[in-house]
Amino acid sequence: MQATAAVLNQPNGPFTVETVDVAAPQAGEVRVAIKAVGICHTDLVIASGAMGLQFPAVLGHEGAGLVESVGEGVTSVKPGDKVLLTFNSCGGCKPCAHHEPAYCNSFVPLNMVATRADGSTRITRDGQPVADNFFGQSSFSSLAVANERNVLKVDDDADLAALAPLGCGIQTGAGGVLRSLGARSGETLVVLGAGAVGLSALLGGRIAGCATIIVVEPQEARRAMALELGATHVLDGQGDVAAAVRAIVPDGADMVLDTSGFMPVVQQAVNMLANRGRLGLLGVPGSLDAALSVPMLQLLTQGATVRGIVEGDSDPQVFLPELLAHHKAGRLPIEKFSRTYALSEINQAIEDAHHGKAIKAILLID
Ligand SMILES: [Zn+2]
Ligand SMILES: [Zn+2]
Repeated sequence: MQATAAVLNQPNGPFTVETVDVAAPQAGEVRVAIKAVGICHTDLVIASGAMGLQFPAVLGHEGAGLVESVGEGVTSVKPGDKVLLTFNSCGGCKPCAHHEPAYCNSFVPLNMVATRADGSTRITRDGQPVADNFFGQSSFSSLAVANERNVLKVDDDADLAALAPLGCGIQTGAGGVLRSLGARSGETLVVLGAGAVGLSALLGGRIAGCATIIVVEPQEARRAMALELGATHVLDGQGDVAAAVRAIVPDGADMVLDTSGFMPVVQQAVNMLANRGRLGLLGVPGSLDAALSVPMLQLLTQGATVRGIVEGDSDPQVFLPELLAHHKAGRLPIEKFSRTYALSEINQAIEDAHHGKAIKAILLID
């Protein structure tokens, strides 16, 4: 079936809105009429070509829409259902069995560009394959083929334009604090970066009852947003950031969560930690060989933990409903930092995100 998609024909774009063909869903697949899709930093990192993306490609991994048709064996959703899309997982490996699908042994083939088992792509243009399957959806398109495991049915009155980014950025930030770092009431949290993920981490810290939340962010508008959302302190990331954190919390922070992948600041993160502190890394660095250097003696004498995080350790079928409830109760006011655009304005939306005019850009599709 024909669809309108924002196609990436070369590294870093621009994206061009073109007509493509989207295949019917096979067994276990769900074809979704996308109504809204967030732009996530990971889209832009992958779009740079640095991670080996082939072109042409359709990205997009914060889709939300209406189920258009389902493949054989799909029982949890039916045509007409409103759904959020999230990352995909196999459901059969050990991490999946332990409800840690973000660490699925097949995460890469199921979420990065890969063909189906029969060699076909879900998206073609003029009969030629288009790199797709991004996070099991490639949802910068009016039609996307997802899978039963990575769609979540939501209420008929759910506002898809508001909720689309729950499936990646919001669950990554909030889950990073609530699930991965296990935030407890009264603890100290430092969040590096105040994009949509960092602000969601801050909101996660608020939900957990953290006493002190320090947000480190170079853009002034984002620092102001962090304060509006309940950060107790903001820092601009210049100079010795660890010393600036310790000026606020002399014993160091219980938790530091990096959402930036910006190595000059990430390198200082260990020095921000209190004894038994936990450092979580979820910002995607700009290159494949970015490396964190950690002073071993300090790490072991402090009993500190350093860990990598994907998607906030989310088990989407469990965690997304929790986030929907937080949103409904006003504890996750993501609309405050979201801005909507038409799909045709995708390049403008990315430009605005770079310049701080939009923290979370969400594309709407008619
Ligand atoms: Zn798995
Ligand atoms: Zn993402």
